[in-house]
Amino acid sequence: MNEPVQVVTIGAATTAFTAVCETCLGIDRAVGLSASKFAGRLDIDLAEGVFLCRRGHHVSVLRAAAATAASESAAA
Ligand SMILES: [Zn+2]
Repeated sequence: MNEPVQVVTIGAATTAFTAVCETCLGIDRAVGLSASKFAGRLDIDLAEGVFLCRRGHHVSVLRAAAATAASESAAA
């Protein structure tokens, strides 16, 4: 399968998150339901992971600090 994988970015200190599967979003709109949101957990020592939504679509989750090196605080 060569379907493009949805990528969700979470905060640098986030371990538990909820995301909306874009593929399900399209299905939900078609059938009038709203079950596209799913919850996941990415342990703090992991920079990325691949999760499955309720329907089994792949969603790639990236931790923000790992995605960009420019995470220094601008408020200092
Ligand atoms: Zn889905």
